Amino acid sequence: MTTQHSLRAFGLHTPPGKSSLHMESVSLSDIAQHHGTPCYVYSKSAILQALHEYQSAFSCFPSLICYAVKANPNLSILRLLAEHGAGFDIVSGGELLRVLEAGGDPQRIVFSGVGKSIEEIDLALKTGILSFNVESEAELQRLAKRAAILGIRAPLSIRVNPEVDAHTHPYIATGLRTSKFGVSTTTARTLYQQAAALPSIHIVGIDCHIGSQITRLEPFLEAADKVLELVESLQYEGISIEHIDLGGGVGIHYRDEECPSLTTYANALQNKLKNFNGRILVEPGRSIIGNGGLLLTRVEYLKSIAERQLVIVDAGMNDLMRPSLYQAWHDIIAVGLGKTEAQIVDIVGPVCESSDVLGKDRLLSVQEGDVMAILSCGAYGASMGSQYNSRPRPPEVLIDGQESRLIRYRETFDDLVKSERIPL
Ligand SMILES: *Cc1c(COP(=O)(O)O)cnc(C)c1O
Repeated sequence: MTTQHSLRAFGLHTPPGKSSLHMESVSLSDIAQHHGTPCYVYSKSAILQALHEYQSAFSCFPSLICYAVKANPNLSILRLLAEHGAGFDIVSGGELLRVLEAGGDPQRIVFSGVGKSIEEIDLALKTGILSFNVESEAELQRLAKRAAILGIRAPLSIRVNPEVDAHTHPYIATGLRTSKFGVSTTTARTLYQQAAALPSIHIVGIDCHIGSQITRLEPFLEAADKVLELVESLQYEGISIEHIDLGGGVGIHYRDEECPSLTTYANALQNKLKNFNGRILVEPGRSIIGNGGLLLTRVEYLKSIAERQLVIVDAGMNDLMRPSLYQAWHDIIAVGLGKTEAQIVDIVGPVCESSDVLGKDRLLSVQEGDVMAILSCGAYGASMGSQYNSRPRPPEVLIDGQESRLIRYRETFDDLVKSERIPL
């Protein structure tokens, strides 16, 4: 069970004399009342605190924290992070346009991903981003060609696969030898030599990303060792590397995970990087916004089936995909004070799929109409949402002290069908 202590770590508390859980100084019952449910809610201070933790831990070297946009690409969130000095890690042209619209600095953008299209490459070249994190020989050739055609030198890093086991869910492990991401260190060496001979390419860095929700430091440090070894041998060959990008951030607390300390991480890196004079980049997404967001949902029905008590809520797998996609565990708590005896229940959504289960075997006091909060949904929540079952996506609200601001409106029926209304 989540205690008041761990709730505080999420910026949540029930003030004395109040019956509703609050995020910062705003009642979550009021948010549910005002904006309806399901509804994503984020804490500005939790997000900024997480960013500042990275910035201060990594301030022992020249560094840049590049927020991974795919974790949560809401324009207001991007604007907030840009205003506080974040760079961005993007994986598509759409994410690039979002960052630019939010006022992000092109020289703080790195572009990852295995399948960059010609259109995406051209857009990023014309924008003047910091680095293309290239993941194959074919991509290097395409990038060099597009840059030559446009008369622009393309800034390049090769994404190396350091082949370490991150001990995370197989769907979010990217550093295994069989992963589709990055290239082996042997291939990387060849690609750097090729790149050095291409006039339209400017080698700026090296990159790796071994996976997500990694709750131990060893895999990160092992990856850093392998990358450093390669940097040293490249430098020996006369190829200089201006920045080392160590990929995504540390895992977060969903249930009982102990999360690695960023200071310990940075200090361990500092020891290894004594002979490296360039900049260190990291690309955290989950650990910037994961614990700073939750999903409010209302109980539609209670239903008993063979020895199980189901709580059917108005949020489903289309709103929050992680439980059905990764068997992810999210804490689910009542926003108000329970009026009935707590019982063991399964919380399920309305979507017509058996995998639409948000939480199993939870001890909760619930009644029809109660508002529940699904915690740690800030990252890979709204961003993975879909309209499956023709369900409009939920609104998003940003809390700042006593204020709350709608940062995305609830989609309407018109939003569902407007791209299909093609005149005959
Ligand atoms: C998803 C991703 C990240 C962010 O990972 P988190 O675990 O959310 O910090 C960073 N870099 C790349 C290349 C990614 O694909």
